[in-house]
Amino acid sequence: MTAAVLPVNGMPSCHEQRLLIVGLGLIGGSLAAALRASGFKGVITACDPSEDEIARGIDMGLIDTGGVALADQVAGASMIVIAVPVLAMESVMASLADLLTHAASNVVLTDVGSTKATIRDCAARVFGRVPPNMVLGHPIAGSEKSGVAAANPALYVHHNVILTPEPDVDPDALMRVRALWQACGACVLEMDVERHDQVLARTSHLPHLLAFSLVDTLARQDERLEIFRYAAGGFRDFTRIAGSDPVMWRDIFTANREAVLTSLDDFEAGLARLRQAIEQGDSDALIATFDRASHARHYFDTLLNKTSYQAEYNMQPQGKVTYRVRPGGQAQGRLRVPGDKSMSHRSIMLGALAEGVTEVKGFLEGEDSLATLQAFREMGVAIEGPHQGRVTIHGVGIKGLKAPAGPIYVGNSGTAMRLFAGLLAGQAFDSELTGDESLTKRPMARVADPLRLMGASIETAEGGRPPLKIKGGTALKGIFYDMPMASAQVKSCLLLAGLYAEGETRVREPAPTRDHTERMLNGFGYSVSREGDTCWLQGGGTLSAGPIDVPSDISSATFFMVAAAITPGADITLEHVGINPTRVGVINILTLMGANLELLNQAEVGGEPVADIRIRYAPLKGIDIPVDQVPLAIDEFPALFIAAANAQGTTRLRGAEELRVKESDRIQAMADGLAILGVEHTVVEDGIDILGNADAQVPSYGGGRIDSLGDHRIAMAFTIASLRASDDIIIDDCANVATSFPSFVELANKIGMRVNVEGQHD
Ligand code: NAP
Repeated sequence: MTAAVLPVNGMPSCHEQRLLIVGLGLIGGSLAAALRASGFKGVITACDPSEDEIARGIDMGLIDTGGVALADQVAGASMIVIAVPVLAMESVMASLADLLTHAASNVVLTDVGSTKATIRDCAARVFGRVPPNMVLGHPIAGSEKSGVAAANPALYVHHNVILTPEPDVDPDALMRVRALWQACGACVLEMDVERHDQVLARTSHLPHLLAFSLVDTLARQDERLEIFRYAAGGFRDFTRIAGSDPVMWRDIFTANREAVLTSLDDFEAGLARLRQAIEQGDSDALIATFDRASHARHYFDTLLNKTSYQAEYNMQPQGKVTYRVRPGGQAQGRLRVPGDKSMSHRSIMLGALAEGVTEVKGFLEGEDSLATLQAFREMGVAIEGPHQGRVTIHGVGIKGLKAPAGPIYVGNSGTAMRLFAGLLAGQAFDSELTGDESLTKRPMARVADPLRLMGASIETAEGGRPPLKIKGGTALKGIFYDMPMASAQVKSCLLLAGLYAEGETRVREPAPTRDHTERMLNGFGYSVSREGDTCWLQGGGTLSAGPIDVPSDISSATFFMVAAAITPGADITLEHVGINPTRVGVINILTLMGANLELLNQAEVGGEPVADIRIRYAPLKGIDIPVDQVPLAIDEFPALFIAAANAQGTTRLRGAEELRVKESDRIQAMADGLAILGVEHTVVEDGIDILGNADAQVPSYGGGRIDSLGDHRIAMAFTIASLRASDDIIIDDCANVATSFPSFVELANKIGMRVNVEGQHD
């Protein structure tokens, strides 16, 4: 046998008593090998024109017996698998039709042929109709080798097998053929014959045709020896595919002629477009095509698995991760923490709609921005990257988007879906927005309703949930929308629709929400005005591209601000941090507590204020946190609780019930951790009192083992806490830190902490 025996645990078994394989080649031999490896208890026989192949099959332990004459093998067979070349199927079926009158009444017939319509038609010719006990099938697995010597017991594991049963198939026969392939570790699917042939023409037959053609064309040129001498990378892959069995492929192209020709037409049209782009030096068209293609595999895997983008980009860590942090350590140095999520996301959207090229630096590869990036690729925008935080967007102008080939999938990103709803409502083409399972449960009526007021035509699923079907070509008109609930996503959605609306679109918010969209629109030269709680824009303008150095995320910077604020002798500068007024609660609160904090090099990037934040140790004191600062620092409280534990006196937080419905109940999770460290505190419904115990000479609290409950901010807050602990702090369930802040541990160690990561990412 060519490969080690497979694990059989968990594989369903096949209960056939006597299996006959007609054609003991690669596919038939691998079937026998896979069944053997699965612990198959029945007898396997084979029929093949070659006595040598039969003898080899017996020697390899794949079959019990066999021979060259079909008549000798059919008797007693409970299932017959025809595994001969496609054009040999008819003669095998004709022989079987004669012989089967004497065979067991419950014999099941199946095949493995790579095309299905011709085989179904020949079964119908031979038997008068496709017999109900016949289930045609096709394992989507193979290799360039042929013959039983190449049999591989693992060939079908985790591969698809497509069955193409006729409508009047015997359900028992179908079930048994399914069981056969499942026992080999395959995943069994069903499809009708025509669909099978079309799909395979595109995914298998066309690529083989191209490989045969390319290799043959180059092999016939004068300098062919040179070409093959230097063949590398891609061309070698073509030669591997072109090394497939010529007879098999002749049969396939003969049998699946119509479907192959249709897919060849589509391919030739695509090739002609590329040719034209090369001739005309149209580099945007080339980049758009290549980028879309180079991300296609990732995109479609994401879509098929209905996962989030980050999970597919391997950013979603799995397995248990524990941090063990030594007590004490330093907090010194200059740092740049990752880019702001909201700005990364919006830089793609507005860059795509702008005139000209937008170069983005410091881009954070978060769920929202990756989803958006792919969606714009689908709508014809050329986007290079992301590569080490750099993305280049070749803007197409506000009216330049093209209809995507299918629904736009935004993974898990609610922000992307809501913002896109506004943007797509103004397009000339129809579109559909879908997401992963959890996003599909989230309400979208709060954007669909006001968009309808603007004249948009949007259909939602029941309960106002995704998918959203948006009709293109509807004229939008500006409205004044008084938001019933404060939401930055709804506001942004309406402003984006407003770009395409006639007249003015005004949005009033009942409470301040983040204003990244307005600021960035202004940064792209599209004027958005604000007076008090209302902002507005005029439709019909243009955006102009420019470079964007995405500011660092103040929420990520917070952990290092607190690290410096609590550690005697500390001096940390955090570079290029976004200090949007709706986000600076942490700066205000730390300053009120007595922190020595300076904003240096203040500037504006893409409409957003940025600064370097320098923070040096100074003793902190407990304060009553002003209630108006709570919404401006809502994500920063886990870290601020650690600051409070290192202040002199009591820090009192109220009006923060929202903390109970974050990734964890952050009030309780922090209180539990503080209790383990021995920090005195009192929990109330909407906040907490923390009694700090600050003395620069001695640690503020002990160590211990803390459960972060998978909440990244809880994990990072207690990591920082160790700077003033007397003992190790061990924090469980920290895998999610890598998602929101991949370089956190590296930066913590860089400033002089001692963080060890235990456990693995599988
Ligand atoms: P293979 O290795 O060449 O095996 C085919 C076997 O069938 C050979 O041993 C051949 O014997 C035998 N055979 C030919 N005519 C026969 C007849 N009238 N009676 C009994 N045996 C006969 O080819 P394969 O790759 O296994 O392909 C078999 C089938 O699987 C084809 O229909 C193909 O379309 C399908 N398939 C292939 C792949 C792949 O990647 N290879 C993948 C999926 C499906 P001789 O060589 O002695 O003539």
